Amino acid sequence: MSDLPSDRFDLQRLVRDQLDLTLTADQGAAFERYRDLLLTWNAHTNLTAIIDPFGVTVRHFLDSLLLLRVVNPPDGARLIDVGTGAGFPGLPLAIVKPAIKVTLLEATGKKTAFLAEVVRALGLPNVTILTSRAEDAGQMVDQREHYDLVTARAVAQLSILTEYLLPLCRVGGQCIALKGESAAAEIDAASPAIRLLGGKVARLEKVTLPHVADPHYLIVIDKIAPTPALYPRRTGVPSKKPLT
Ligand code: SAM
Repeated sequence: MSDLPSDRFDLQRLVRDQLDLTLTADQGAAFERYRDLLLTWNAHTNLTAIIDPFGVTVRHFLDSLLLLRVVNPPDGARLIDVGTGAGFPGLPLAIVKPAIKVTLLEATGKKTAFLAEVVRALGLPNVTILTSRAEDAGQMVDQREHYDLVTARAVAQLSILTEYLLPLCRVGGQCIALKGESAAAEIDAASPAIRLLGGKVARLEKVTLPHVADPHYLIVIDKIAPTPALYPRRTGVPSKKPLT
């Protein structure tokens, strides 16, 4: 990587070029601290396979922020990131959008312990962490149909994922899935499930990450009707028996 220009790792410049957004000095420092904690924790806790400087800056931070190309959440909007892992895409969004309320939902306690440490170190009052399976959260009275925006990256095939996401989204809100080249095929396979759960695919947007060959897509699903009470089914059922 030593022959690569240093601007490949300059998040400030990448965000300005790609999103026409200027990070404040505090936000720039927050991303540096986040990256340092990710690398430190990853030495003993399996959080991510991507730990090189380019990967963390572009494949984690920038990829998360490019979601702002398809939606610009207003102040006060409630967002939940399902299967957030080490915080992607929810935590970068919480850093650049301090006026939105972000819930990071993750089933693995070791990962939410890491997230709690990052949130404490960065001082992010707009972030809540929830250690839970999406199937359980979707049936909690204070979580169900509570969110304006529901996001997920690299969690499950869309026909399964849709049963995790749509129950958490309020009618009139949107779900956004970050996907790779299988995005269009996954939409085809998941269409009956999306309809059944009260959703409608609104948009498929290709995003290009600088210096990254594999295509990335954002699938935007509008929540147009309430999700039937039966869904999500109990833990493990959506992945074992995806809706068809
Ligand atoms: N979204 C992060 C990213 O893009 O870097 C993490 C992706 S990781 C491959 C998938 C994460 O989803 C894991 O941390 C896993 O524990 C979590 N996960 C999978 N199924 C889940 C479920 N049903 N409820 C909550 N979390 C789930």
